Amino acid sequence: MAAMTPRILPLLLGWLLAGPALVFGQAAAAPAAPAAAPARPTRPIPAVEHVFIISIDGLRPDKLLQADAPAMRAMLKAGAYTMWARTTAMAITLPSHTSMVTGVAPGKHGIYWNEDLPLSKPVWPDRPTVMELATRAGYSTAMVAGKSKFATLNKPGTIGQVWVPAGTNSKDDNDTVVAHTVTIIEESKPALMFIHFPETDTVGHDKGWGSPEYLAMVEKSDRQLATILAAMERAGIRQSSVIIVSADHGGQGKGHGPEDERSRNIPWLITGPGVRAGYDLTSQADLNIRTEDTAATAMWLLGLNLPGDLDGKLVNAAFVAGTPAPARGARRGAAAAGPAAPADAN
Ligand SMILES: [Zn+2]
Repeated sequence: MAAMTPRILPLLLGWLLAGPALVFGQAAAAPAAPAAAPARPTRPIPAVEHVFIISIDGLRPDKLLQADAPAMRAMLKAGAYTMWARTTAMAITLPSHTSMVTGVAPGKHGIYWNEDLPLSKPVWPDRPTVMELATRAGYSTAMVAGKSKFATLNKPGTIGQVWVPAGTNSKDDNDTVVAHTVTIIEESKPALMFIHFPETDTVGHDKGWGSPEYLAMVEKSDRQLATILAAMERAGIRQSSVIIVSADHGGQGKGHGPEDERSRNIPWLITGPGVRAGYDLTSQADLNIRTEDTAATAMWLLGLNLPGDLDGKLVNAAFVAGTPAPARGARRGAAAAGPAAPADAN
């Protein structure tokens, strides 16, 4: 982690000024856990010890299918998937990612903007992220994101290890994100990690979502995903990890935004213990996956309480029969005795 210090330092200073100190490194496995923190929750699928949420910014499903993308294609065989998931109505980066990790629509989390704001005080989402809930429950957590505005998701004390680019309205490339991600995986094996690849969106805005350059960046992103999966293998956690790959929005022309299906349509891929293999989630006509379902599913996998007003739902259909359905506002263990939820639970 020493190599990150120069980039992390300005952010760290900002956090120190803004609130409780945030500790980096392996010692930060359970930062700011209250003294009365409950015991580690009971997970519905005990074999799942790690959850990774990987967002490829601006990844449009049809371009993914067009691309030479062996890592994501392997996820289609090994796991459950849909190319018809939907992001927020706003279909822009920061509100959509906030919905992805809080499980609520922008109207509840309150992050409507898409840039670093020059405010005298930082503004955090009005709802906890899955990282925060996991940290509170005693799990080790991490986030690596390629745009500085993701600092909005890093309320002090809520995520164990964080890397985002320093500066204001700045971004970095996928390689930098992958390097920091690999370091954290190999050194800390976090129980929950949120990873953001920025560059597909960068190329989309620059060259267009239908451009050859965009397609090439999708393919490069797939190879970079493979690098992260290889790090999980080396760390010995690949087989105990659920991996969700999705996106915050698609795009058309050189932009993205509301009122356009090409922006709202996102892929949703999941693999790991207990996940159905080769299962197309559109097999269930009533099942419409939304980006908020990512947070709900991750919360469930970690045995966390699902907040009562969550908009997202567990994507129960992605898991083999026999996995228990969650109870909202109740401890996970209390619902574990029930039978598997029917497919229409989503
Ligand atoms: Zn975006």
